[in-house]
Amino acid sequence: MTVKAFGAYAGDKPLEPMDISRRSVGPHDVGIEIAFCGVCHSDIHQVRAEWAGTLYPCVPGHEIVGRVSAVGAHVTSHKVGDLVGVGCIVDSCKRCDDCSDGLENYCDHMVGTYNGPTPDAPGHTLGGYSQRIVVHERYVLRVSHPEEQLAAVAPLLCAGITTYSPLRHWNVGPGHKVGVVGIGGLGHMGIKLANAMGAHVVAFTTSESKRQAAKALGAHDVVVSRNEDEMAAHTKSLDFILNTVAAPHDLDALFALLKRDGTMTLVGAPATPHPSPEVFSLIMKRRSLAGSMIGGIPETQEMLDFCAEHGIVADIEMIRADGINEAYERMLKGDVKYRFVIDTASLAA
Ligand code: NAP
Ligand code: ZN
Repeated sequence: MTVKAFGAYAGDKPLEPMDISRRSVGPHDVGIEIAFCGVCHSDIHQVRAEWAGTLYPCVPGHEIVGRVSAVGAHVTSHKVGDLVGVGCIVDSCKRCDDCSDGLENYCDHMVGTYNGPTPDAPGHTLGGYSQRIVVHERYVLRVSHPEEQLAAVAPLLCAGITTYSPLRHWNVGPGHKVGVVGIGGLGHMGIKLANAMGAHVVAFTTSESKRQAAKALGAHDVVVSRNEDEMAAHTKSLDFILNTVAAPHDLDALFALLKRDGTMTLVGAPATPHPSPEVFSLIMKRRSLAGSMIGGIPETQEMLDFCAEHGIVADIEMIRADGINEAYERMLKGDVKYRFVIDTASLAA
């Protein structure tokens, strides 16, 4: 089936309309009419070849929500008409220890929603900036939010799970003081989720303009990180730092804020490395530096259900598909509160 999409033919070219094909719905597949797709900073890294190995044409998009339009004969978990989501994963080996543990995100054969290997034309996966997608049922999530919130649910499929998973893994909860660094798409979800988990949340931003906004998201304190006195006020006081920043920066200034046995987890994935932190930043207080990548399918469902129960959605700005190049430029300037979401109905126009 041919569907309309938005993508790029090269890393130095803007995104433009294109026709792509989707496989027919197999026995274990779910066919989805995409209603909305969130715009993640990873889309920019990938489509502009800032990360190695981008394949063209590249159709980004891994924050997909929509309605089931067809199911294969063996599909039991979804039915036509259901509201569903698809995140960053559309396949994995289904047999290894990681898959058995529901941690498909760490499977060595995980297939990303775009730029992953597939027998489907053109030989790599094409993402959610498109009208329809066909996905194995295992990687399709149930959405139980009210339908009128659907567009604002889309960013939960990447920004939501990428922040939820480390907050859960490092047991963030009541009595913890947690820093969230970089208040973009991921960071704003990190604030909302850490707050809902009962932690005391400190937002770290480079943008003075986000000082009030971060409080409205649920931060108890806000630090403009360029201000040394504001940073110093939190020295050795944080249990955990979730670092979402999309560019290289000084990690030592943040380590100084962790108390003994504190951990800083990197989820931001800049195109070039951070300067290496000082060994003394780590050994003096037995601090840890860690990383985390999205989350597994069961945990993504848990996150969606947690958000539905707590009334959590993303703060979004809706755009048409042909507004994507301008949206990227605004994201690079930190000028988005806090996630662009493409209304895929605009692809038809
Ligand atoms: P985003 O919406 O663009 O937000 C990034 C934020 O980082 C900015 O809003 C800004 O916040 C801060 N920042 C500070 N200096 C920056 C600079 N020089 N350039 C860009 N940002 C700067 O991005 P996102 O979608 O949240 O993604 C953040 C990062 O996480 C990206 O690298 C993305 O690829 C990565 N990611 C990783 C995973 C994973 O599984 N680990 C999943 C999804 C995304 P302030 O204005 O508050 O300073
Ligand atoms: Zn993403």
